Amino acid sequence: MAKKTVGQIDVRSKRVLVRVDFNVPLGEDGRVTDDRRVRQALPTIRSVVEGGGRCVLMSHLGRPKGDGPDARFSLALVARRLSGLVGKPVRMAPDCVGPEVSGQVAGLKDGEVCLLENLRFHPAETIKDKDAALDPELKERKLAFARKLAELADVYVNDAFGTCHRDNASMLTVPQLMSGKPRVVGFLVEKELKFLGDALRRPARPFVVLLGGAKVSDKIPLIDALVERCDAILIGGAMAYTFLRADGLSVGDSLVEPERMEEARRIRQAAGAKLHLPLDSVTAEQLKAGTLTTVCERAIPTGRAGYDIGPQTVRAYTELIAGARTIFWNGPMGVFETPPFDAGTLAVARAVADATEDGAVSIIGGGDSAAAVDAAGLDERMTHISTGGGAALEFLEGKPFAAIEVLDEA
Ligand code: AMP
Repeated sequence: MAKKTVGQIDVRSKRVLVRVDFNVPLGEDGRVTDDRRVRQALPTIRSVVEGGGRCVLMSHLGRPKGDGPDARFSLALVARRLSGLVGKPVRMAPDCVGPEVSGQVAGLKDGEVCLLENLRFHPAETIKDKDAALDPELKERKLAFARKLAELADVYVNDAFGTCHRDNASMLTVPQLMSGKPRVVGFLVEKELKFLGDALRRPARPFVVLLGGAKVSDKIPLIDALVERCDAILIGGAMAYTFLRADGLSVGDSLVEPERMEEARRIRQAAGAKLHLPLDSVTAEQLKAGTLTTVCERAIPTGRAGYDIGPQTVRAYTELIAGARTIFWNGPMGVFETPPFDAGTLAVARAVADATEDGAVSIIGGGDSAAAVDAAGLDERMTHISTGGGAALEFLEGKPFAAIEVLDEA
């Protein structure tokens, strides 16, 4: 069942508490270096503002340690940027709960926006329900914090997909406490659920899954969940070497997870011909920008490590991508942060963009693959770039998200 969205409710003169994901990257000088997450929240914020609602935004930023404010993680840095983007002043609250904040929210007029300070200045935000279940004091701390947030609002909106797999106070306890009031998804979460949900339930075939990155262990549940539903799984990145090593091939000094070899064999068996491994690798004696590289077909000698997929693999993968109607990609094909080992990832990104132009639906699973797509300037050419790396993977694994389940059905 689809979830009710912020566009389907009347927000006029209501205090609308919107959980957004403003966990943006900050430069050394504290400036926002990438405002994508802020921009992606704009449709929901505009909808509340234009509907005459009183928009109260809340988010976490980074991982502040300890209890209390920390200027390095203040959302005030984001408020300024947001204000420019929405074209109206954004009032910055001194905290996310407390009498001063309640007063500020009570003083909001229709169509005005305020941003609460970083939720994670309160450790209660991240207390896990499973820990709270074992410790009444923790449970009360989490509840007390969530109650103060819930009291600020008449309507709850979840537009923070990247945090939907967590049971943080602002994600789950607050909507639980607001039972009886409208609790809906924002447009960003709606979009994520649509694309990831459709890819999972009824992908146009062929459905090609591209997986890369450092570790095979992170991706095992995803491979297990997708193997039946997809037509091909193309493996790149360091995780390929665990599979190749499990096949008995020498991979030199490439990164492998020896304790995952057995599991790699099991997956290989289950996936059969659907699982594609690199035919060649770009190798080097050390990982250094501009270092001397050699292409090795399959076996890699000791003293060298594979840091990227090779040209034959790029060709084979490009061909499979070109024939796909649905593509899901998570994880770079090599150490894309260090040229020339970015070549495989960039070539694959171009192939996915071209296939999208030819009518395929392409979904980029956030994190490093999204960064690579951005770096290649191809972000506009993909169907959907997920804002939730970990959340997107868990969603595709088929895990239930309590933070979504608690919200109203359409
Ligand atoms: P993950 O977080 O699992 O998606 O892994 C992303 C990281 O994997 C990136 O920082 C890449 O540099 C790294 N990576 C990709 N391919 C390789 C490789 N062949 N050897 C070592 N690291 C790699």
